[in-house]
Amino acid sequence: MELILHGVLRRSRANGPGERLVVWVQGCSLGCPGCFNPGTHASARGERREIAELVTTAVGDGVEGVTLTGGEPLEQPAAVEAFGAALRPTGLGLIILTGFTTAEIERDPARAAAVRHADLVVAGRYQRRRHLGAGLRGSANKQYWWRTGRYRAADLDALPDLEVLIAADGTVTTTGMVDA
Ligand code: SF4
Repeated sequence: MELILHGVLRRSRANGPGERLVVWVQGCSLGCPGCFNPGTHASARGERREIAELVTTAVGDGVEGVTLTGGEPLEQPAAVEAFGAALRPTGLGLIILTGFTTAEIERDPARAAAVRHADLVVAGRYQRRRHLGAGLRGSANKQYWWRTGRYRAADLDALPDLEVLIAADGTVTTTGMVDA
């Protein structure tokens, strides 16, 4: 099974506890005004990547876990469920950032299944008037949905607001809750 991707960052410290593989999925129809990542909205522009390949990369890199963000991961619910199921036996953690609320996830069987293997879900639309940009919440209405005891609020307090990565070829990548 494949995920439709916008991009992958193999080591990040700004997208959850520890070093993490970050996967930005491509495609989001939720249309939050002020969205900080509009380039991820058009699903037709994504790159297809095998789930097994992503899991193998994460395990090989020795990261603490994976963060799925976007774009909207829960608009690819079957693939996200399969990704979580494949990741679980490896012992790596899983965080999912979604624009759907916890209520919207719980009442939709496909979305509920998609988050089944997640340790933490950050849920809710981005609301510009409640902009926060701290921890893993872009706005104050977004909820932390702690689904296992793997991560705690204190882990997120320590996250950098902004991360700037410079690759060997000079490519600069910025990530985090502050818009660089
Ligand atoms: S759910 Fe996320 S990617 Fe989609 S419009 Fe809202 S902020 Fe942007």
